[in-house]
Amino acid sequence: MVKGVGLTDPSPSPPGSVLVRKYGGSSLAGIDRIQAVAKDIRRARDQGHQVVVVVSAMGKTTDDLAELARRTNPSPPRRELDMLLSVGERITMSLLSMALAAEGCPAISFTGSQCGIITDNSHNDARILEVKGDRVREALADGFTVVVAGFQGVSREREITTLGRGGSDTTAVALAAALQAVRCEILKDVDGVMSADPRLVPDAHRHENLSWDEMRQIASSGCGVVHIRAVEYAAVHQVPLTVRSSFHDGPGTTIGTTAVVDSPGQFFDAHDPAQPPAPCRREVRYRPLVMNVDRNLTRIRLTTDDDQLGRRWRDLLLGRIDPAGMVTEWLDSGEGFRWEVLARRSTLDGLREALEAVADPDNGTMIWQDDLACISLTGGRPDSWLEVQRHVSDLLRDFECPVWRMRADGSALRILVTGDLPPNLPKQLHAALLPA
Ligand code: ASP
Ligand code: MG
Repeated sequence: MVKGVGLTDPSPSPPGSVLVRKYGGSSLAGIDRIQAVAKDIRRARDQGHQVVVVVSAMGKTTDDLAELARRTNPSPPRRELDMLLSVGERITMSLLSMALAAEGCPAISFTGSQCGIITDNSHNDARILEVKGDRVREALADGFTVVVAGFQGVSREREITTLGRGGSDTTAVALAAALQAVRCEILKDVDGVMSADPRLVPDAHRHENLSWDEMRQIASSGCGVVHIRAVEYAAVHQVPLTVRSSFHDGPGTTIGTTAVVDSPGQFFDAHDPAQPPAPCRREVRYRPLVMNVDRNLTRIRLTTDDDQLGRRWRDLLLGRIDPAGMVTEWLDSGEGFRWEVLARRSTLDGLREALEAVADPDNGTMIWQDDLACISLTGGRPDSWLEVQRHVSDLLRDFECPVWRMRADGSALRILVTGDLPPNLPKQLHAALLPA
């Protein structure tokens, strides 16, 4: 598998059909990559597709822009942050159009606003309300390949908005739905939806097909392969997705294209009727789809019986916390406020000081705990979480992992570990719980 070598179309579709492809930032990290992507797109066009390409910002551009903003003002006005962050994707879209022109493939780039991606007015975390797409349809009809800046739209008040970190996937799915594309392809620096990160677990396997519901469970656990909103949008609008590598022409993972049959063994023990049923212990029925490892997490727990303090904390959190940085959250409040979150440390800059500034030591407590690691096991519905807990606790004891807490929240099991993770733990757990 050679870097930058052209892709063949893994599942051919009728000539003239619209194909939406989305390329992530690491697939577009430099000019050489942009040129390689232009070649791939030209090839898809030569196969007879009308191609719409949705692009992310190059490499770490969005992080760099956010950092510039933070250095200028620790709490930048959300509207201005959108004006700044939306620029990242505009750089890529224009460069890719230029690279396509150099390939002899007439192309035109549009911002989200120019495509008529209409959102609500929630700056930095807007939701798509409607996709008009007229200019895209006209440009396709005129023979252009269309390049669209992902992650952004325009509100009815004509303000530029962004869709939250990772939002380009949603742009692509929404355009695919509006244009009735044959499918939406999400091209990444991974081979598809994997059972675990292959850098941590060399035995990780690729899922060939997943239902929208399975993918929704995976995405909602914080596993970053496809943004959760994009998956939800695809499920509602029945957009078939393919997740595959932009670096080679492997088949990737298709989502939602096959009849929704949950893989055998996940919810029941399927067996060949010609064979006697294998003895099956209940606890080993649990087969999660994906294991995800997050390091450098912080746990924040806020507790108060004072409604006013609870409200002040909540308003501050709503203004400051980036939903994309949260791994999981618990809320328990009636009178007073009990809230706990596990979030990526990198997204919490300045928050502790801000929470302390409004705190009242007599009326509330804040626990702030850094340096947690979390292993999430997602997908697969066990008969009983207690049973799973017994089984997984035994495994963890065998692997000498000092668990701090284990938590189940519907479709995911989270194992929280303080300090460093034992280096072999991801491999061992994967072999025990997610065999191919
Ligand atoms: N560039 C944005 C981000 O990094 C959007 C995206 O990549 O989907 O979050
Ligand atoms: Mg990005």
